[in-house]
Amino acid sequence: MVRKVDHIGIAVSNLDEAVKLYQDVLGLELHGTEVVPEQKVRVAFLPVGDTEIELLESTSPEGPIAKFIEAKGQGVQHIAFKVDSIESALEEMKIKGIRLIDEKPRYGAGGAKIAFLHPKSTNGVLIELCERME
Ligand code: ZN
Repeated sequence: MVRKVDHIGIAVSNLDEAVKLYQDVLGLELHGTEVVPEQKVRVAFLPVGDTEIELLESTSPEGPIAKFIEAKGQGVQHIAFKVDSIESALEEMKIKGIRLIDEKPRYGAGGAKIAFLHPKSTNGVLIELCERME
């Protein structure tokens, strides 16, 4: 069901500075940036092999990333796993008794269909399931 680690989401307070750090320190290339209004974030993608670093900056003090940084500081916020079908993955999670943040998929950056599992069900790790059109 899970194909790979699609990306690792990192909450940052200044996207441009964070992008520069990953470029300068690790030599990664910026693949693009995007605003996702539904999630109140501005996102930058930096591919690494066949996965990506996803840097997330909040566009609103009310957004989930702003709240995350307020509670825990900047840092790794979620890990996203690529699945073939998000609907069937969510069905499977429900059957397995995993608490879901998203009962239904929503749209994330890059037009991907995404859904989050509740960290209370996953040892404190915010897991994102992600289905991409290819
Ligand atoms: Zn993500």
